[in-house]
Amino acid sequence: MSAMLAETRSDEATAVVGAHRPERKRVVIIGGGFAGIAAARALRHADADVLLIDRRNHHIFQPLLYQVATAILSPAEIAAPIRQLEAKQRNVSVLLAEVTGVDLASRTIEAASPGVGARKIGFDYLVVATGMRPNYFGHDEFARYAPGLKSLGDAETIRGKILGAFELAATTEDEAERARQMTFVLVGAGPSGVELAASLSHLVKVTLRHNFHRIDPSKSTIILLDAGNRVLPTFAEALSRRVTRRLAKLGVKVLTGVKVETVDEQGVVAGGNRIPSATVLWTAGVAASPIPKMLGTKTDRAGRALVDPFLKVVDAPGVFVVGDAASVMQNGHPVPGVAQPAIQEGRYVGRLIAKELKGGKVKRPFSYFDKGNMAVVGKNYAVLERGWLRTSGFLTWLVWAFVHILSLPQLQNRLRVQRQWLWSYFTGQRSSRLIPETREPGR
Ligand SMILES: Cc1cc2nc3c(=O)[nH]c(=O)nc-3n(C[C@H](O)[C@H](O)[C@H](O)COP(=O)(O)OP(=O)(O)OC[C@H]3O[C@@H](n4cnc5c(N)ncnc54)[C@H](O)[C@@H]3O)c2cc1C
Repeated sequence: MSAMLAETRSDEATAVVGAHRPERKRVVIIGGGFAGIAAARALRHADADVLLIDRRNHHIFQPLLYQVATAILSPAEIAAPIRQLEAKQRNVSVLLAEVTGVDLASRTIEAASPGVGARKIGFDYLVVATGMRPNYFGHDEFARYAPGLKSLGDAETIRGKILGAFELAATTEDEAERARQMTFVLVGAGPSGVELAASLSHLVKVTLRHNFHRIDPSKSTIILLDAGNRVLPTFAEALSRRVTRRLAKLGVKVLTGVKVETVDEQGVVAGGNRIPSATVLWTAGVAASPIPKMLGTKTDRAGRALVDPFLKVVDAPGVFVVGDAASVMQNGHPVPGVAQPAIQEGRYVGRLIAKELKGGKVKRPFSYFDKGNMAVVGKNYAVLERGWLRTSGFLTWLVWAFVHILSLPQLQNRLRVQRQWLWSYFTGQRSSRLIPETREPGR
């Protein structure tokens, strides 16, 4: 009976996945992030059926996630439904499913969809673009108390935690507990930690300042911790020093060379000292999704697949890894795990497959064109590094704002974000100050 059921389900599944015609090649792309979408788009004129699979129904513009976490923007403003690709591109089908297995021998993947269960899907070409997830460096138990920032759900959890802490601080009679509620610890001083800390500073000093009679949110303590010896380690040292000074001006305490030993209900123990805090946020590290390991190829320490200069998996014809999930070297240096390389790698592989489908062969290996690296440090201040060019300050911040508006996935997102930013810039207010009902303050 159960075998029959399974068969029926698998038939249904084939019907759903089967916008595929057997005489055409099938390209399966796992992941609808920057890299996966770029690959799908680059295949728009290819004579192939493209199946784009993601466990979420939306693509997230991750560089602005910190603004959802700090109540400037709402989730819908930085995300777009992946399914709209089907409307724009005839040879693409979108499937909401989590890929749970890859079998290179039978050239199939296993994907589980809500309500349908697991099914096997065959491929001629496979593009893995599954990105990264937070890495607690062997201390996954920290995740319960220190959420990472990777999804819209994470950003809403963090926003609820921050706003909830002030509600509890305003009701408690216990001075020590009030101080704990008003202490925010961010672990990891890379771009995400720096951007989040600076935005949090503006939230407490400006937006929330006069919202409570019993407490003064501007007296909050914001601590940015890192085991390394400076903030923004991927930027030049001179920029890193400028950002440290800027953070100090915003009232953020930066503690470098300090390792976090414990995260629990009461706060953190770092460098041997306990810091009581009700809100600990994890911006420290990332590891690749488990999918690259399933390819049986070599991976680096973060679990990214080592690929050849054409982004192919060695000894697996027609299998590629792109974006954050791939470890790509160029001129002896790793290509950084940020949005531009992911887009460029996805586009490159899409074009390569399209050419192969026409019987051609791409001769030039992937080459990353560096458009620069940016980070924003609160209102009116950003840093930019591109080759020998290093700039910081208000003009750089304007460039940052312009580039980010233009890069958002849909026109309506661009218009809405622009409107929210203008409102927030001139009034100091933030429109998205909601604690989700599923979150009780303090949890
Ligand atoms: C908070 C934050 C801030 C950032 N800020 C910046 C910035 O300012 N500038 C910049 O350039 N970069 C920034 N980045 C990095 C940038 O977002 C990534 O480099 C980029 O998203 C990588 O693209 P990708 O397509 O490889 O992966 P992602 O965009 O992460 O997409 C991966 C997709 O794969 C899907 N997926 C994963 N596993 C499975 C599975 N098993 N089955 C089905 N689907 C799966 C996921 O749901 C996701 O949609 C930031 C990242 C974060 C988290």
